[in-house]
Amino acid sequence: VKRTNYLPIAILVGSAALLAAGAFLTMFGIVATTATNAFLLGGLLSGLGAFYGQALVRQKDRAYRDEHERAQVLEADLRQQKEAVDNLADGLEIAIFICDRKGLIGYANRRAREIFKFENPVGRTILAVTLSYDLESLVLEAFRTGEKQTGEVPFAYPEERTALAEGWLDSGGQRLFLSLYEITDLRRLERIRQDFVANVSHELRTPLASIRAMAETLLDEAAESDELGRRYLDKIVSEVDRLSLIANDLLILSAAESNPVRKQACNIAEVIQAVIHQLEPKASQKGLKLTYRGPRDLIIEANSSQMSQVAMNLVDNAINYTFEGHIEVTLKVERDHVDLTVQDTGIGIASEHLPRVFERFYRVDKGRSRATGGTGLGLSIVKHIVEAHGGEVRLESTLNQGTTFTASIPKGDLSVNVSEV
Ligand code: ADP
Repeated sequence: VKRTNYLPIAILVGSAALLAAGAFLTMFGIVATTATNAFLLGGLLSGLGAFYGQALVRQKDRAYRDEHERAQVLEADLRQQKEAVDNLADGLEIAIFICDRKGLIGYANRRAREIFKFENPVGRTILAVTLSYDLESLVLEAFRTGEKQTGEVPFAYPEERTALAEGWLDSGGQRLFLSLYEITDLRRLERIRQDFVANVSHELRTPLASIRAMAETLLDEAAESDELGRRYLDKIVSEVDRLSLIANDLLILSAAESNPVRKQACNIAEVIQAVIHQLEPKASQKGLKLTYRGPRDLIIEANSSQMSQVAMNLVDNAINYTFEGHIEVTLKVERDHVDLTVQDTGIGIASEHLPRVFERFYRVDKGRSRATGGTGLGLSIVKHIVEAHGGEVRLESTLNQGTTFTASIPKGDLSVNVSEV
């Protein structure tokens, strides 16, 4: 913005020259008229005025430029700070809204946009975005009382969720900060645990009640008919056996849950072949082919009796839920783990049940499971043991075609592949 104006300098120099000429004429006795002197003085003054005015303009220009630069620096600072706060809020796994008295949203972080599947909720109301009257009333209550409000809020849209909501006002009292902390999984786990306890008592009470009823009848009728007595006694024995199986599985499960795994050198190939040997008669009784493919000996670092429980449950299930075809058990050595795969050609599991079959006492078909002598605990034992060993269980199934369970177990440091079958 540099502007150089020579006019005031020219006027000033010109006037100074004229004044000097006037002074010169006066000095040498040549009398100058009053008009000439006034003219000379006027010229000098206007030159000085122009010069001073120009200096003032330049000074103002400089001050304006400085101000402008300062404002730009401040603006950049503010932008950086806002970006930092946005990044911080977007990185949180808690949903955050800022809204006004009418519930109009002024800000929503990434999680808030994700949960409610709204790309830009700004300018809409909390109710329109979350479809939750509970949340709206929490917001209104916080504004009404001026106090922090907390509550557990269920959401139905876009999927069922539960969140812990907190709303509090800023210092001016005109804006509300709303945080939503999801506790859906926590509530689900709690439900599973409660179901578990309820199921345990139910599962134990039903057979116990029938034992009691039959024993009472036996006492009354035994004298009249030996035949009835024998039938009831048989039933008593089988119900008691069932109870023992459940109690046994519960013990295995709670032992696996409470203790850290005690690993030793475990010949997992031998363990699996022993299980197959044990279950072979059951399979052939149903006309099923049961085969093993894998090394004859393979040492890994694991708990042998728990590995036996894993194989026993998977192979036993495969036999129970297969009515024709074959069951293939495979042990494959990978780089740092072994894969135990049990594949059957059985009834399969419908996709809606897949996420739940590892839950305790969860059965697709209670009647069928009971008929096979199942306790409903087998798969949760498998999952628990394998995960406690640092591995994972995978499940693939097609209804009416078959099921494949794969347990991947880390080999550990002791791994020795001794010989192939
Ligand atoms: P259960 O004692 O009832 O077999 P599990 O925990 O072992 O209990 O299995 C849970 C449920 O998963 C079973 O009731 C059954 O419905 C289903 N399931 C398990 N393994 C198989 C399989 N190989 N084929 C089909 N369904 C299976």
